[in-house]
Amino acid sequence: MSLGRDLAARIAASGPITVADYMAQALLHPTKGYYSTRDPLGQQGDFTTAPEISQMFGEVIGLCLAQSWLDQGAPAPFILAELGPGRGTLMADMLRATAQVPGFHDAARISLIEASDVLKARQADTLKAHDPQWIDSVAGLDREPLWIVANEFFDALPVRQFQRDGTGWRERCVGLQDDTLTFGLSPVAPQPGLDHRLADTDDGDLVEWCAPASAIVAEIGARIADHGGAALIIDYGDWRSLGDTLQALRGHAPTDPLDAPGTADLTAHVDFEALAGAAAPAAFTRLTPQGVFLERLGITERARNLAAGLTGAPLTAHIAAHQRLTHPDEMGNLFKVLGLYPADATPPPGLEP
Ligand code: SAH
Repeated sequence: MSLGRDLAARIAASGPITVADYMAQALLHPTKGYYSTRDPLGQQGDFTTAPEISQMFGEVIGLCLAQSWLDQGAPAPFILAELGPGRGTLMADMLRATAQVPGFHDAARISLIEASDVLKARQADTLKAHDPQWIDSVAGLDREPLWIVANEFFDALPVRQFQRDGTGWRERCVGLQDDTLTFGLSPVAPQPGLDHRLADTDDGDLVEWCAPASAIVAEIGARIADHGGAALIIDYGDWRSLGDTLQALRGHAPTDPLDAPGTADLTAHVDFEALAGAAAPAAFTRLTPQGVFLERLGITERARNLAAGLTGAPLTAHIAAHQRLTHPDEMGNLFKVLGLYPADATPPPGLEP
């Protein structure tokens, strides 16, 4: 039976489910979830991410983390971790670029946090030279200096959605109409966790709330503040989210989020203000557009060096990849970077307090 039929039966038996519950089932149901059943990345898949566009992305980010590690006195050992590593491409590019940084590889213990067995197998293959360990959640990270990166991870975490009604909120839910999954609204109720949104919303506005994201950042922030390290969180979204940003992608094209759950990627924009608010006692950087961040890290110089060895179609593709990662009309502005670092240290290169 399809996941859509499973969910319809569950809703018929016990009532509508939250958008977060729907998203969690659609993405990570153990046998029918989107990530549990496939490698979704690349041309043949449903979406492409920055590390899959060009090796330059991982290279400059690897050097950024290595410089941050040097700036904090090169502690050894330390954990080099990634949340949602996909095919392992970003970590592989980071490790290749940092091979010449004295002591960095010897001191690094690679930890990967990945929910999908399909992608774990892919990561094991990509990273077999580096002996990575997989852990189930950030709570399982050892309490040691921690340099950690997350690209397009937080957008995959389940969000709840609330529509304002007076000074209360109606939660958006997934129910059934004529045996088909459909959105509806729960009765109005107070939501103390959304009190701060009463100031910047009007009746009928929709806000999103991703509780797991804040919990994850809180775990990371505590480790970085206590033991040193830094985090780079890269994703699409803005300082504060407003409106419905739940979206589904199948075969690189938008589709109805309620159509055939488990067969399309589902994401929501990241609310960086909420992440920053969970970082204490670690400090957080100014939210910085991806294009600005990559330029500051020297991606254009790296692009020129790589271009010197290319001609014809590979050169054209390389130039297009650089443009796609950095140009404000492509990924350069839509994607943002938030850094976490110890309050008594300097922020990672490319980012400002
Ligand atoms: N960072 C990679 C992949 C992004 S896709 C890249 O940039 O190419 C999202 C990744 O997060 C996938 O690896 C997916 O399996 C993983 N993921 C999604 N939800 C997760 C969760 N709750 N816990 C752990 N991993 C998760």
